[in-house]
Amino acid sequence: MNFELTVEQKMIKDLVRQFTEEEVAPGAVERDRTGRFPLELIHKMARLGLMGLPFPEEYGGAGADTISFAIATEELSRGCGSLGITYSAHISLGAAPIYLFGTREQKLRYLPQLTRGETLGAFALTEPHAGSDAGGTETMAEKIGNQYRIRGTKVFITNAGYAKFIALTAVTGKSEKGKRISSMIVPTDSPGLTIRSSYEKMGLHASNTTEIILEDVPVPTENLLGVEGEGLKQFLITLDGGRIGIAAMAVGLAQSAFEKALRYAKTRVQFGTAISKFEAIQFKLAEMAMKIELARNMVYKAAWLKDQGKPFTKEASMAKLYASEMAVDVSDEAIQIHGGYGYMREFEVERIYRDAKLLEIGEGTSEIQHLVIARQLGL
Ligand SMILES: Cc1cc2nc3c(=O)[nH]c(=O)nc-3n(C[C@H](O)[C@H](O)[C@H](O)COP(=O)(O)OP(=O)(O)OC[C@H]3O[C@@H](n4cnc5c(N)ncnc54)[C@H](O)[C@@H]3O)c2cc1C
Repeated sequence: MNFELTVEQKMIKDLVRQFTEEEVAPGAVERDRTGRFPLELIHKMARLGLMGLPFPEEYGGAGADTISFAIATEELSRGCGSLGITYSAHISLGAAPIYLFGTREQKLRYLPQLTRGETLGAFALTEPHAGSDAGGTETMAEKIGNQYRIRGTKVFITNAGYAKFIALTAVTGKSEKGKRISSMIVPTDSPGLTIRSSYEKMGLHASNTTEIILEDVPVPTENLLGVEGEGLKQFLITLDGGRIGIAAMAVGLAQSAFEKALRYAKTRVQFGTAISKFEAIQFKLAEMAMKIELARNMVYKAAWLKDQGKPFTKEASMAKLYASEMAVDVSDEAIQIHGGYGYMREFEVERIYRDAKLLEIGEGTSEIQHLVIARQLGL
């Protein structure tokens, strides 16, 4: 067993850390306040080769591994949770299904646009009446000749406002087992497709969260991803990978909250001494550091298993569950260590707390992760 990062992984970590410290973190407070989407940072990330990091070079990617993707996501999230989720959704929800299930023609046509950062990746699964129960999808794709006609509504979709096309799930028929769900690539300039981004969110203000309304949207049948009726299976596989991204985001957010709390504890004087000298504060910081370390190891293990081509569903789900709850706990404690100042926006830990909360909900809630893990245990 070797816990050392490879030379390439270390290079990626250093590169993204420097980029985050110089370019991402400085504007995070302002973007949280205004909700401005940082398109200029996406373009810079594309120039650094990050937008296609784990995809093969023949599709414009950097050919890096999943551990490198997790490292990049963690480092970006350390500076700005909104950019972290934008990136994670782009790679692991938007681009991954095309890479995993697309034909060679589809990959050659769509992946380079994503890996060059010309468009953002988005994956539209959730609907008003189908969240955790994604099998309850109501969006219909009726086949007429060589076209599907799609009708329905998708909610809470990340990045769609900046996407030229999205991967979307819809019902394409029925079998004795129930609905046959398929996934397809839908251009966002298709007639009948409307994207709105008017949610007022608790956190992740500078990420793009959208509602997609589909009114008889025509899509060529050649845009089907993989085999008709296998959409459910495909998005379960996609979400396995996505959970590594969410867990890595959680580690980055928690790391940032921890560093801020540590710094503050050393400088804040009460009762004539730095509060870091109080055992109660020391124990909090020790606990926070331990939990972050544990979560990071879980993320790396799940990513490593994926890179080895081994099963990783259980480990990705465990990492997502543990890391997301850990990030909420750690950022909560970081606020506590800051006292009243922690409740103020200026000190940033309250933003991290708000951003972290989403991680217990998106890509399968904590309750659903317990179900996934239980199933993996044979229950
Ligand atoms: C900011 C943001 C970004 C998102 N991005 C995307 C995206 O890019 N693409 C996308 O498709 N979706 C996205 N989502 C949607 C997200 O994945 C869903 O919100 C999530 O899966 C939960 O679904 P729901 O909101 O309908 O909650 P519900 O499924 O209605 O859950 C409500 C509560 O019931 C619990 N519950 C439900 N079923 C069970 C059960 N069987 N056992 C125990 N408890 C249960 C849940 O855990 C939860 O506590 C995003 C959401 C947000 C808020």
